[in-house]
Amino acid sequence: MGTRPASTPSYRRLSEADFDARVRALWRRYEDCDLCPHDCGVDRTAGETGACGVTDDALVASYFDHHGEESVLRGHSGSGTIFLAGCNLHCVFCQNFDISQRLQGDPVGPEEISEMALELQDRGCHNVNFVTPTHVAPHLAAAVRIAHDRGLKVPIVWNCGGYERVDVLELLDGIVDIYMPDVKWSDSEAAVEYSGAPDYWDRARDALREMHRQVGDLSTDCRGIATDGLLVRHLVMPGHVENTKGVLAFLAEEISQETYVNLMDQYRPHYRARTDSRYEEINRRVRSEEYQEVVAYARELGLRLA
Ligand code: SF4
Repeated sequence: MGTRPASTPSYRRLSEADFDARVRALWRRYEDCDLCPHDCGVDRTAGETGACGVTDDALVASYFDHHGEESVLRGHSGSGTIFLAGCNLHCVFCQNFDISQRLQGDPVGPEEISEMALELQDRGCHNVNFVTPTHVAPHLAAAVRIAHDRGLKVPIVWNCGGYERVDVLELLDGIVDIYMPDVKWSDSEAAVEYSGAPDYWDRARDALREMHRQVGDLSTDCRGIATDGLLVRHLVMPGHVENTKGVLAFLAEEISQETYVNLMDQYRPHYRARTDSRYEEINRRVRSEEYQEVVAYARELGLRLA
C-alpha cells in the first residue's frame, strides 16, 4: 500500500467537457438500460424497471458519517456514506434487504445528492462513499460533477457488489478514486443460487482488472486515510471456503499481491437465508476454523489484509 503526502481527487483531473460528456453518455444508458451485466434493455426514463427494480429516479435510503467502515476510510471523522436503494444483485442473505430489495428510500436528483456529498465533506468526512451505486451511476456521476464545481475535494468511493460492466467503469475513469467492490463469488453455481447472477465471476474478474488499471493498489495519505486505489471486500460464507480461496488466488495472481483485502467474518443469515429452508446450508454463522483457514491462505498468498 503506497503512502502519499497529499492527494488530488481524480475528478479534479478531468476537463469540464470530458466530465460532461461522460455524464451524458451514462445518462443515455437509462433509455435502454445496460448499466450492469443484466443488460435489461428497459427504458427507465419511461418508468420501466429491470432487475434492480429502480426507474431513473435514484432513491437514497440514508446518508451519514459512518464510523464502522475500514479504518482507512473512516479515519477519525467517518466515511461519508450515501446509501442508494435497489441493487443489481439479489442476495438471499442480504442484511440490508429493506433497502436493496424493498427499495426503501426517497427519490432524489443529482442536485440533492451533490448537496449531501458537500454536507458530508463539511462534517469532516474523509470521503464520499456511494453504497450500491451501479444501477444509478448516471445520477452519481452528475452529482459529483455539480459538487466538484461547488468545492467537493474528498475522494469518491464506489462501494459496489462487483457485478459491473467494463464499458460503464470506463466512463467512471477519472471520476471514482477508490473502488471498493464486495467480491462475492468465484463459485458460479453459488452466484446463481444465492445472488441471481450466473456470469458473476466472469464479470467480476473483468471489473477487477479494469478497476485496478484505473486506480492501482490502495494508497493512503500521511494520516493513513485512503486517497485512491482498489480496496476489495469479501464476505466469507458458511461452507464456502473454496469460494473464498478462488477470489483470493485471483487477486494475488492476476491483480496484485499488494491488493488490500478486507476478509469479513460477520456473515449472519438474514432475509431469505434465515426463513427459507432452501437455503438451510447458509443458515448459520461462519465457523472460526473456516475463517482462520481463509485468513491463513490470504497470508500465504502475500495479500494485504485490512
Ligand atoms: S442497472 Fe438495473 S435495469 Fe439496468 S441493466 Fe442493471 S439491473 Fe437492469
